[in-house]
Amino acid sequence: MDAKQISIYVSDIIEDIKNNGDEAVFKYLKKFDNVDLSKKGYRVSQKVIDDAAKRIPKQLKNVIKSSYSNILAYHKYERSQIKKRWNYVKNGLKIGQFYRPVESVGLYVPGGRFPYPSTVIMTAVPAMAAGVKRIVMVTPPKNMNDAVLFSAKLCGIKEIYCIGGVMAVGALAYGTKTLKKVDMIVGPGNAYVNEAKKQVFGRVGIDSLAGPTEVAIIADKDVPTDYVVADVMAQVEHDPLAKTYLLCESAKKMSEIEKLLPKEALKQLRTELCSLNKAVDIVNNIAPEHLELLVKNYQILLKNVRNAGAVFVGYQTPTASGDYWAGPSHVLPTNGSAKFSSGLSVMTFLKRSAYIEMNKNNKKAYKTIADFAQAENMQYHKKSAEVRYLIPSFFSKCK
Ligand code: NAD
Repeated sequence: MDAKQISIYVSDIIEDIKNNGDEAVFKYLKKFDNVDLSKKGYRVSQKVIDDAAKRIPKQLKNVIKSSYSNILAYHKYERSQIKKRWNYVKNGLKIGQFYRPVESVGLYVPGGRFPYPSTVIMTAVPAMAAGVKRIVMVTPPKNMNDAVLFSAKLCGIKEIYCIGGVMAVGALAYGTKTLKKVDMIVGPGNAYVNEAKKQVFGRVGIDSLAGPTEVAIIADKDVPTDYVVADVMAQVEHDPLAKTYLLCESAKKMSEIEKLLPKEALKQLRTELCSLNKAVDIVNNIAPEHLELLVKNYQILLKNVRNAGAVFVGYQTPTASGDYWAGPSHVLPTNGSAKFSSGLSVMTFLKRSAYIEMNKNNKKAYKTIADFAQAENMQYHKKSAEVRYLIPSFFSKCK
């Protein structure tokens, strides 16, 4: 299917969900995921969540907890860095801004090919730290495993639905008898999921349209070859559409790396032999989701990086550190969108409201407002300023 066909196809499914709610959800669960949940329903019970948490091996539990605690600490710190409100007073006019969290959020946790407990944490924790009251999780039945449910429980998510794909996005945006509509949908997914998010944008907020993952690696002549090979392979492992760019200053190093990579991986790799400074220019143009600076003296290069979702600095920092454990969310801008947007964070879930407070001594300001309204021929806009200082009895006089 080309993009236009996908768009029509997705729009038909969303329309069906909008008109037929749960009945349509059950139909598509059967069609796309081959499960019949029409008797049991698709909301996951607390007992199922608790049982999953009991079954999970201790060692895996500790791994997930360690990641959760780093990611929570990072986002709590981010929250503490955002001023809750600010204002200043000038000529009796008080103006400023304040932040409020989005009230309800749907987390899309993908699960067509693999289960992603990491994505549960990477989407839920920034929302929690921002203060979102209602956090809902959806994930396809195929990969809703114990680790995914345990991660959700750890994040305090109580509303979990066993649906994925377009119907999950449709149900979150329009609501069904089972699932109450949310205000915002976040999280990565395949081409159908992204198209669905695009189509419901406006009715609900969305984070971004995360496409196939990508990494750009800038490597100097001294980087251990194995590090680069492992990081390229880690990228390829994600998805047949995942892209890797390797920019290296040394022909010898490049050839060592290429020799160790399997043929299949080379198909997903673009290489460029160039100076380190030129590599940064190229990267700024690509605006990759992930950028690795596998360079000894990275400080100067880092200063010149303008467009990248996340930067992994120095020989010792693989992209996997950000995928699983370090702190920032792994939901990052792809396909060049790092030129104008950022990864998921506390900021994603905060709305900014402007604050304006006038008082009746602002006569000059009221006059200016009235004059501007007159220029646009908006008579009641003009009056709404004038009535506050010039002719307070205007409406009673009119009678
Ligand atoms: P997914 O959950 O996005 O999609 C699976 C669902 O798609 C299925 O359950 C089904 O309902 C629906 N579907 C499948 N075929 C369909 C069809 N023909 N028509 C309509 N609906 C259909 O899972 P996925 O497919 O594995 O894709 C996940 C994507 O998310 C991958 O590209 C992966 O790389 C990406 N991802 C990104 C991040 C990130 O942080 N950027 C993290 C994890 C995963």
